[in-house]
Amino acid sequence: MIVFTNARIFDGSSKDLAEGKSVVIADGKIADISDAPVDDPAATIIDCGGRVLMPGMIDAHIHAYFQDVNMNRLQRLPATMYAHHAANILHDMLDRGFTSVRDTGGADFGLWLAIDQRLITAPRLYYCEKALSQTGGHIDMRHHLDYSPQDNEAVMCGCCFTNPLGVIVDGVDAVRRVIREQLRRGASFIKFCGSGGVSSVSDPLDGIQFSRDEVRAIVEEVENHHVYCTAHVHPDQGIKRVIELGVHGVEHGTLIEADTANMAADKGTFIVPTLAVIFGMADEGEEMGLPAESLAKLELIADQAIDRLNHMKRAGVRVGFGTDLIGALHPRQCTEFALRSSVFSNLELLNQVTGMNADIVGQKDKIGVIKPGALADILVVDGNPMEDIDLLARDGAGLSVIMKDGEFHKNLLS
Ligand code: ZN
Ligand code: ZN
Repeated sequence: MIVFTNARIFDGSSKDLAEGKSVVIADGKIADISDAPVDDPAATIIDCGGRVLMPGMIDAHIHAYFQDVNMNRLQRLPATMYAHHAANILHDMLDRGFTSVRDTGGADFGLWLAIDQRLITAPRLYYCEKALSQTGGHIDMRHHLDYSPQDNEAVMCGCCFTNPLGVIVDGVDAVRRVIREQLRRGASFIKFCGSGGVSSVSDPLDGIQFSRDEVRAIVEEVENHHVYCTAHVHPDQGIKRVIELGVHGVEHGTLIEADTANMAADKGTFIVPTLAVIFGMADEGEEMGLPAESLAKLELIADQAIDRLNHMKRAGVRVGFGTDLIGALHPRQCTEFALRSSVFSNLELLNQVTGMNADIVGQKDKIGVIKPGALADILVVDGNPMEDIDLLARDGAGLSVIMKDGEFHKNLLS
């Protein structure tokens, strides 16, 4: 048994910090939160000295396997390279205080197994296997000048084909079959591309992807399986369309207008903006080898991305915290806090990265919360992040304790 004493608690959502509490950890879970000192000679006591204890952070949009900002280069690498890259960056994420991550395309059950069997030190992983893309869509990473005889065969026989990031699939029946296979492999949600994107070179950023019938089939399949789906979308028209069609979440949502934000709020559709990648690519993408087509598309969203967060805030949209970093941009994970801080309060940011993200990844009351019965994913912060959010943005340097599943990844207080 481990007992954190003398802590002020941020529980994942409430503005008031509970003072002077003891948090009791047993069997990987939060067993109790008590006012009285715990008197058990067998317990390991950690005196928090009035520091803030809070849930481990959650990043709801990562890509563990995206080792290169240039997707055409990336898809030619062998699986071993993806696996080693993932082990490396996931360890860094845990060092920063992210105890859970949701991979929105690429990560598979093999990576989950490696974490579960402790082959690598990493946050808890929620994965969707491969993201779905239509032919010529956002995960179809072929350049429009790329050609192989296999491309002709795939189109003519109607097969789907895959790259390490996604599966290229067209038609209602094929979409259903791919989803059923991904869910069979333990995916906890389905991700599809509902519009063009930056890193793909052959689709227009504001192009709408997948037919209404295909999107309806995706929604029906995930609801039959009691999981959820989320759509990569940038243009407002595309965001509006997936909300109308009952899609549960939107990734990026970069060009959202006020009335669409109101729709998302009314329907309860979550949105996970991802600013870290947009500003990372704008700063360093060119020198890292981001193709010219992608740099041109980046310009369509970069100067609007922060301002559009105001629509989400005003409407009361369920906003999650995601970063979407690729290639050598991964060390920028914590820049997401500063990029959002002109729009969202510290309390809102704290909630996005804990309680709200837990809800978005389908793990409400299990992670992202300090309460009895929740998994013991815990940070002890050297100060009060409600007053200074930068404490969470120092790549772990503002954290005395990082605990995942009731075990210390870091402990400077004993
Ligand atoms: Zn995306
Ligand atoms: Zn992404």
